[in-house]
Amino acid sequence: MGSIKLHTISKKFGQRQVLHDINMEIQDGEFVVVVGPSGCGKSTLLRIVAGLESPSSGDLEFDGRAATHMPAHARNIGMVFQNYALYPHMTVFDNLAFGMTARKSSRQEIQQRISEVADLLEIGSLLKSKPGALSGGQRQRVAVGRALVRNPYMFLMDEPLSNLDALLRERMRVELRRLHDRVRIPTLYVTHDQTEAMTMADRIVVMRDGRILQVGTPDEVYSRPNSVFVAQFLGSPPMNLVRVERRSEASLVLEGSEGTAFPAPDGIRRATDSAWWMGFRPERIIRSHGGASGLAMTASIRAIETLGSRYHVHANWGRFPITWVTPEAPGLMPGSQVALTVSWNHVHWFHRDTEQRVPEDAALDFPVEAGGIR
Ligand code: ADP
Ligand code: MG
Repeated sequence: MGSIKLHTISKKFGQRQVLHDINMEIQDGEFVVVVGPSGCGKSTLLRIVAGLESPSSGDLEFDGRAATHMPAHARNIGMVFQNYALYPHMTVFDNLAFGMTARKSSRQEIQQRISEVADLLEIGSLLKSKPGALSGGQRQRVAVGRALVRNPYMFLMDEPLSNLDALLRERMRVELRRLHDRVRIPTLYVTHDQTEAMTMADRIVVMRDGRILQVGTPDEVYSRPNSVFVAQFLGSPPMNLVRVERRSEASLVLEGSEGTAFPAPDGIRRATDSAWWMGFRPERIIRSHGGASGLAMTASIRAIETLGSRYHVHANWGRFPITWVTPEAPGLMPGSQVALTVSWNHVHWFHRDTEQRVPEDAALDFPVEAGGIR
């Protein structure tokens, strides 16, 4: 085992550039999740690391050694795909043994390794079955087992849970992560599903249009997204974003509003632009009980969704739709007004034109604002 480094990897298919200067590292023992919308280049990136595709420029390094031109079969990679591609006519045992048989390992060696892997994945009782007789989750485990049998240098996983139903996907997320914690094989996992990224990753790499937007732990990217895109891509329901404009050097109002102004953070006071995005997460909104410090809003409720453990309250603040997630909703109904607050340290600011984050500074302790904007 060891690390994997990508240095300024780019890829063109004909005239079309699908990867732009990708720099990243998967450290020994690390679980890195690349997350981004469909078509952003995740599978292409994975295939380049696997050696199934070669980069147009840039370099790969495995454990400090140049690997860009290493043939795929020499890379010792365990791959798991969305469609598990198990051989339907072979038993689970033979599916697991396939690679070792091809490499002419001894019968005893094969038995030994398969029994270890089967124990690890709790598939010992399935070894004589054919894939057709297994459930989705069991097939998934066999596919992981097949990649694990060869004791790979690293795991590459391409949306391995996308074919499973929601409940199973939740269980397999935990199982895969638990497996990783035991075997510690460096893993590059790609998905379009932000929940998988948040729950499974040591570090998340957010990609869009062939470029890396942000790298960090799940907490870092969630609490300090560096752009509007990242802010809205991670988290469900997504971050609320409203347009604000400058009223004076030190104060802002909702765009087009005559309502109460609120103070601008330092980064905005010093800038010359007049228009900004203000963001706050649905779960960071609390109901005002008078005197709560922070951004104060009066919102009119449009609809309330009940999810059992919580409510999604859809409302309008001025002319901007916002969502509020709350564990309880006594007395709330469509058409009514509700006073809400978000603590200033949970408010995010972005430049309107570049959509980049306004850097924080010490001056986010605002005075208490009452009233808010109608
Ligand atoms: P993702 O896995 O994030 O959905 P892909 O890496 O599969 O994205 O694809 C990224 C882009 O590259 C897509 O626009 C896709 O159509 C294009 N692409 C992928 N493979 C090829 C190929 N072999 N030839 C031409 N274009 C390709
Ligand atoms: Mg893909």
